[in-house]
This record gives sequence, C-alpha cells and structure tokens, in this order.
Amino acid sequence: MTPEQFRLYGHRAIDWIADYLEHPERYPVLPRVQPGDLTDALPAAGPEQGESMDAILADFEKLIVPATTHWNHPGFMAYFGISASPPGILGELLAAALNLNGMLWKSSPSVVELEQVVLHWLLLWTGLPQDWFGVIYDTASTGSMHAIMAAREFIDPESRLKGCDPRLVVYTSEQSHSSIEKGALAAGIGQERVRRVRVDAEFRMKPQSLAEMIESDLAAGLRPCCVTATVGTTATTSVDPVPAIAEICQRQQLWLHVDAAYAGSAMVAPEFRWAYEGCHRADSLVTNPHKWMLTPVDCSVFYTRHPDVLRRAFSLVPDYLKTAEDPRAINLMDYGVPLGRRFRALKLWFVMRSFGREGLAAIIREHVRLAQELARRVDADPCFERTAPAPFSVVCFRYKGTDEENRRIQEQVNATGEVFISGTVLNGRFTLRLAVGNQATTMAHVQRAWELVKQALPAVT
Ligand SMILES: *Cc1c(COP(=O)(O)O)cnc(C)c1O
Repeated sequence: MTPEQFRLYGHRAIDWIADYLEHPERYPVLPRVQPGDLTDALPAAGPEQGESMDAILADFEKLIVPATTHWNHPGFMAYFGISASPPGILGELLAAALNLNGMLWKSSPSVVELEQVVLHWLLLWTGLPQDWFGVIYDTASTGSMHAIMAAREFIDPESRLKGCDPRLVVYTSEQSHSSIEKGALAAGIGQERVRRVRVDAEFRMKPQSLAEMIESDLAAGLRPCCVTATVGTTATTSVDPVPAIAEICQRQQLWLHVDAAYAGSAMVAPEFRWAYEGCHRADSLVTNPHKWMLTPVDCSVFYTRHPDVLRRAFSLVPDYLKTAEDPRAINLMDYGVPLGRRFRALKLWFVMRSFGREGLAAIIREHVRLAQELARRVDADPCFERTAPAPFSVVCFRYKGTDEENRRIQEQVNATGEVFISGTVLNGRFTLRLAVGNQATTMAHVQRAWELVKQALPAVT
C-alpha cells in the first residue's frame, strides 16, 4: 500500500467509523445470523495473491458487520454496556501505528512511563492509595490470575521453585466472577481448593462464613492464601463488605484481592466512593477502564501495594534483556506473564484528557440515574418484582411468573433488534438483567426497553 493509498483508505475508514458512531441503531443490536453463517460465507483458505482494499472494505460491510453484535449500540443493555468513545478509538489507532512493544523501558520509554503516569492519575481520581503500583493487562481475568499468583508467592515463596503446595486455599463469594476460579486453576490451585463463601440476602459475602471457613481449613492442616472480594459483582453489582473482610485477612495474614472490574470506574464520582470503603487495605485490586470508562477493549488496570512480591513471582530476566538498573526505568515484563505488551495506556490517556474526571463522572452518574429510573418503574408495576438491590447501573427484575415465561420475555425483547438484555439466575430463579453503560444510551432507550418487556407479556403468558 502506498502512502497515498493509505491516506485514501484511512479517510474512508474514519468516515465509516464516524457514520457508524453517529447512528449505530441503523443495525439490529443482535445480528440475525445462525452459528456458522459467517464461516460458510468466507473462503475456506486465504488468498494466494493480495486483494484490493476496495474488495476487503466491501466485504467488511457485506459480511462482517451483519454478523456483529453491536456493543456500541445504545440498546446494548446485556452483560455490561460499554463504549468505545471517539477519543479512545483515536488513541487505539495511533497505538497501532506506532506498534510499540513495551516489554522493557528501553524497548519504549513512552509505553512504560505513560502507563505509570495515567495509572497514578487513576489512583487520584478514584481515591485509592497514591503509593500503589499499577500495570495494565488485557483483562480483569488476567489481573486476578496475577493477584492469585502473587498471593501464592506471598504465602509460600517455595512454590516458585517447587511448584504449588496442594494445601493452598483461595476464598471468594458464591457471586464472584468465574475468572477467580480460573485464576486459581492457572496458579495450580485445584478447584477443590477454591472456597465459595455464602452471601447474604443482598448477594454480599458473609464475613462470618469466611472466618469460619478459614478456621476450619486451618484446623484441617490446609494453608489459606488469598481472599477475593468483589466491588460490583457481575450479576447484581453487589458490594462485598471489604472492611470486615480486610480485618479477617489482616488477622490471618492473607492476601486480599479486590475485583472491581465494573464498578471501579464509578469511583471517579465521589458519591460512589462508599463502595471502595476498606479497599485501601487490599493487597491488590483490578478495575477495567474498558468496561465503564469509555476506553476500547482491551484495557484492564491492576494495582498492588507489593510490586516486589509481583516481581518475585514473575521476574526471570535472561541476560540479553538485562539493562542498567535505574529505579525509574521499570521493565514491565518483570511484573507478569506476558513479555510483550501493547501501548494500551495511550487510549486511556486520550480518554482521561478528553473527558476529564468530571466528564466521566457526569456520564456514569447519568447511567446510574437511568437505571434507578427503571428500578422505580419496575417497583411501581404490580406484575413485576425486583430481584436484587440496584446500587449502580444494573437492574435485576422478573415478571411474577415462571422462569420459562421470563426466558421467553427475554427472547422476544432481544428478537426485536432494538435492545439486548441479559438474564441471570438468582436464588435459583431466572431473572432479567438490564445494564446501562453505553455512552449513547438515554432515558428514551431505557423506556423503550421497559415497554418491550411489558409488550412481550401477552405473547408469553
Ligand atoms: C467483567 C468482569 C470480569 C471479567 O472481565 P474481563 O476483563 O473480561 O476478564 C471479572 N470480574 C467482574 C466482577 C466482572 O464484572
């Protein structure tokens, strides 16, 4: 591709993006395709000769977009609604152009130093201890795995040389994300050694149950290692009582990891900071700017108060990569599994500068307001009930009928292509779950989703 062609197609791609972001609702939020449709429409083998960019872009629109779930659609209210904001997209584009690999300070000072600076800004914006060390990984799953590996190093330094002690135990609540269990698996801690602590009626970990489990494991000769608390669980956004959990961890000398993948972004607005109460006592914490901070996937932030432990767990520096020791020349490859790392801090920097803390807080505040508005409408409707408190921008609710009827409501609503909502099981019952989190979502979209739910009733009951 010549520089002139790059300019031409680059402008065309940007025009496409601008049109897309202006009206994502031109597309159904869920694609009308069956499994395998796209595979069947694509050639079985790649082309021998290079093809024209005209042909490739045409197929992007004709084949790829129709098989796409539109996370940038204002009616996207499943999982966690997220947005790739225009400033974040520009940061991502420029990062691809520089194509840096920030494994060492020397391999690109900009990757290493900008990452440290923006993660420090984020500590200040969210009220976390200013002396924490931060590093960006791809996902919260990777971050939590690193937390468990660091906890293993903290409790049992021998494991680095000899492999994992089969007596190590990890504790997390029944409502925690599956990534905690996966992280334990990756760390060599068997599934049998992942304890699921009971939750209260509002889906928060019961500290008393945690304390009892730890005592009984100690009595059985096991080695408690790590407790993972969640601030903003995936199903209901419940907040575990971190102060009480931190107290137990301190007493037993255990590593406390906090999973704030979703709710961590809300802390840029001071009125939500209550949810971080006690988190300053954590040993590590993970939060995802790619969830609720308008940063394109992927960008997940991991903090720890013990960078030395993280480093002990992972540093394995071959001679050819050794550089002169300068305390300000950090080599991020020493703080985790990946050697290479892309320039994710650039898009986060674009987002933080472009919106400012107040801009981000205003958007999050509005999302929470929309969800609270929906919660009020559900509460006021005698045919529906809420199935969990809604402290942030997620509302769990159900039609006062059977699970089957609720499942069919969800199917009918999602078949319209106007909105996409998810479901979850709480206390053994299927429940609808609506998450507000897209930058373009307004009260009109939430109201429309609520109408579609109610309109589905006659057909399913
Ligand atoms: C979404 C979510 C995760 C997983 O995030 P990834 O970045 O996709 O790994 C982990 N924990 C919680 C509480 C989440 O909501």
